[in-house]
Amino acid sequence: MMEDYLAKNTFEPGDKSCKVAGCQQATIRFSGVCKAHHIEQLQHFGILSKPPPGRLFTPYDFLAS
Ligand SMILES: [Zn+2]
Repeated sequence: MMEDYLAKNTFEPGDKSCKVAGCQQATIRFSGVCKAHHIEQLQHFGILSKPPPGRLFTPYDFLAS
């Protein structure tokens, strides 16, 4: 499911900084936040499955950075 989502979305970089406090990442286009926080929000609303606890691997490893 996550793989499908990432495959269908290109996450083009925007020209602003992520609005999440303390985050220095650039936003993705059409969003006010960076890629990691965008996906975090989607997971919060239950749209995407959450990464398995304690295990980070592709495509989730970028969330750890
Ligand atoms: Zn961010």
